[in-house]
Amino acid sequence: MQRIDKYEQVVGKSKIDELKMLAGYLKGKVIQHINSTAMGGGVAEILSKINPLMQELGVNTQWDVIKGTPDFFDVTKSIHNALHGKEAIITEDMWKVFNDVSSMNIREMNLYGDIMFIHDPQPIALIKRKSRMKNSKWIWRCHVDVSGPDKDVWGFLEKFVNKYDAAVFSSAHFAHKMKARQVLISPSIDPFSDKNRELTQKEMDAVLNKYKIDPQRKPLVCQISRYDALKDPVGVIEAYKLVKKYVDCQLLLVGNRATDDPEGDKIYKQVLEAKGDDPDITALMVEDIPSEINTFQRVSDVIVQKSIREGFALTVSEALWKGKPVVASNVGGIPLQIKHKYSGMLCHTIEGAAFSIKQLLNAPEYARRLGENGREHIKQNFLLTRHIREYMLLFLSLYSNKDVVTL
Ligand code: UDP
Repeated sequence: MQRIDKYEQVVGKSKIDELKMLAGYLKGKVIQHINSTAMGGGVAEILSKINPLMQELGVNTQWDVIKGTPDFFDVTKSIHNALHGKEAIITEDMWKVFNDVSSMNIREMNLYGDIMFIHDPQPIALIKRKSRMKNSKWIWRCHVDVSGPDKDVWGFLEKFVNKYDAAVFSSAHFAHKMKARQVLISPSIDPFSDKNRELTQKEMDAVLNKYKIDPQRKPLVCQISRYDALKDPVGVIEAYKLVKKYVDCQLLLVGNRATDDPEGDKIYKQVLEAKGDDPDITALMVEDIPSEINTFQRVSDVIVQKSIREGFALTVSEALWKGKPVVASNVGGIPLQIKHKYSGMLCHTIEGAAFSIKQLLNAPEYARRLGENGREHIKQNFLLTRHIREYMLLFLSLYSNKDVVTL
């Protein structure tokens, strides 16, 4: 049995048969994904799950990562923040760093895809190679919330975006007027990955012992995210402190480092300062071990995602898939996943987050029902089989009928 067949248990045989059929139409085409980190963050997470499955379906899917200097990632982090509407000053010198590193990648990277699938702003300038790659099709996949970007920064990127054949966004709110064809495709999670599969009690106990976390001691509230100001970990601590006045609970913050995110250590330091000597707060900086994240999500009583801006928030999908009650900000892709008071709780402020966390800790049966609805919503909409289907349809749509067998 192929691994792909296992997904039949979750989504049904007809969906898997359809994937096999679509993959057949892509025979002979090479898809080359390019992003800026092999590890850390949602993009790497998705590519590491989607690619092996598409390869198994017979689609030649490859993944390469651009090279960057620390200066370059400082600039691209500022671009990222500015796209999220955060004030950011990008000087002439910074644009020069962006252009110089882009030129180096344009010169040196081995680009060979029939379909070039470029993720996020960091590698966006690679489109300059398009004219030298006859018949190649180019997709720009934007994982960022660009609903209210800094105009100058968007204006700079737009010149590149307009040269792509298609631009993919995670939410309709992120659409812009542009020359490239716009496509709406939401991200997804893999229900059988180590991050999402069922775990045995023994597996979870090993993780809890390693980090000395006892979920039985007090109700456990948890946020798992890169240490990034836009994920607002300090705001989570403030919300926890408000909850704590009424419900004796403990808080777990978990984050990792992404090679393309230079701000992690700075924000982690702020978190440690905000935590102070509260023995009920644990703030971990961890290596990427998916079964550990899985454990933290499964043993929590309430999962929080108090982002200020958010592309999609896979962490919300992961938590809902595990049937957990989630309190998350009403930003970016989060409202696609949470319908307020049905599949989780949406919040706008620290006080709002605290109010919902308190409510869920006090009403476990209500919390359980929200989690159950959330799991069903993820099953229907955000599993990787749906994602792969939409990507394959997008690839096929890039060709006129003469290049690819008609559907
Ligand atoms: N993640 C992880 N370890 C951490 C923090 C996050 O493995 O310490 C994972 C998380 O489980 C999710 C991804 O990184 O799969 C984050 O994706 P999301 O869309 O939530 O946010 P992004 O980091 O892309 O902004």
